Amino acid sequence: MTENGLTQDINARWTRVRGVLRAAVGDSAYKSWLKPLNLVEYSDGVVKLSVPTRFMRDWVANHYGERISALWSDGNSPVSHVDIFVLADKEDVRAAAAARSASETTVRATEGARVSPERAEDDVSASLDPRFKFDNFVVGKPNELAYAAARRVADSPTATYNPLFLYGGVGLGKTHLMHAIAWHIREHQPDRKVVYLSAEKFMYHFIRALRFQDTMAFKERFRSVDVLMIDDVQFINGKESTQEEFFHTFNDLVDNNRQVVVSADKSPSDLEGMEERLRSRLGWGLVADIHATSYELRLGILHAKKDALEAVVPDKVLEFLAHKITSSVRELEGALNRVSAHSSLIGREITLESCQEVLHDLLRASDRRVTIEEIQKRVAEHFNIRMADMHSARRSRAVARPRQVAMYLSKQLTSRSLPEIGRKFGGRDHTTVMHAVKKIEELRTADMNFAEDVDLLRRMLEG
Ligand code: ADP
Ligand code: MG
Repeated sequence: MTENGLTQDINARWTRVRGVLRAAVGDSAYKSWLKPLNLVEYSDGVVKLSVPTRFMRDWVANHYGERISALWSDGNSPVSHVDIFVLADKEDVRAAAAARSASETTVRATEGARVSPERAEDDVSASLDPRFKFDNFVVGKPNELAYAAARRVADSPTATYNPLFLYGGVGLGKTHLMHAIAWHIREHQPDRKVVYLSAEKFMYHFIRALRFQDTMAFKERFRSVDVLMIDDVQFINGKESTQEEFFHTFNDLVDNNRQVVVSADKSPSDLEGMEERLRSRLGWGLVADIHATSYELRLGILHAKKDALEAVVPDKVLEFLAHKITSSVRELEGALNRVSAHSSLIGREITLESCQEVLHDLLRASDRRVTIEEIQKRVAEHFNIRMADMHSARRSRAVARPRQVAMYLSKQLTSRSLPEIGRKFGGRDHTTVMHAVKKIEELRTADMNFAEDVDLLRRMLEG
């Protein structure tokens, strides 16, 4: 793997994606819009493509964004998300490097924004993702407090809960909620000036002001803002004097009744590298955490996302994904995107099987080893027979059928051979197991209810 995580595989994929795009849009559009795209980085399933200007980013994202994403995530691709961003001009890059060495703070010289700013509030505000609105946010137990607080802040004409501190793990919706607040205020209270930016970007401006001994201007600039949102404040660290200055600026804003909203991946008290005083100050308003997703929430999100994609996805597939992909909403979305992109590219409908095939790599990672004993136990419970009947010689249908189901699932879910499975079922012959597998497959196609039963058992065992 190279420095930017660009493996040969990713580079090869990029070449293929470009080839397909070129063929699809024609040479002249390709030259104007797509050729300037630069593959900059790949990590954790996210591909970063840079463009030289904001305008270009908006154009490419609006006109080609979906197609680019679909091509990247096709097949067994590890890519779940494509980020198109503006690579700042040379001067910005230099300033950022200077700021970085001055402060030990990580400052990226890029603007991580995605899609079009309908109106640029200010040159410091990053643009807002049009998908990140309250309407598209699915509310469930794990995020209801954060959602309610965000809504309250967005609806209120003055500062409430100052600051609002949103925290939670990666990919659980913090940025989504912040953008939603910004969109809402811009729409319903257009007179209020809203600025949203990453903590890195904020620090970058801040440190630049310090360097040029221009903190007054910096404060003025932010004082004219009614709502200031700073994303991922866990990145605020560095020299004490820097933090000190930040602390005063922050207090200034709050004292002047400016609404401040911040997010982080940890609670205020757990923020490392941050001075005690600042940490405690951040927790003065309302601290709302977003918990890990529940199955219900994941299923709700998948349903909403499926509707937005206008994709036809069987409920069974959605349930399967909600069971299996539990890490973050971002991963969940990525998985659904991959499955639906795959199906639209090869022109076949989505099934449980195709879904498992497409997500092979992802699912394997989250796979837990299931033992034959667990399978027997579950199946016995389900059909209400004794565990001993899994091994017994009894042949009545009431026990023989469940036993066959257990054999079938053992074949599907474990890597045991037929003779090994036979041995675990009271020393039966491998042909008996083979017969059981065939029989269950037949029954599955003939009887919808039976098929559902078996799938349910399978999901429970896998989940
Ligand atoms: P974070 O900032 O917490 O890392 P994001 O806000 O970037 O996470 O969310 C990651 C992805 O998951 C985004 O595409 C976002 O729209 C989506 N997402 C997260 N939570 C929800 C939710 N409750 N409803 C709909 N989409 C969600
Ligand atoms: Mg975020």
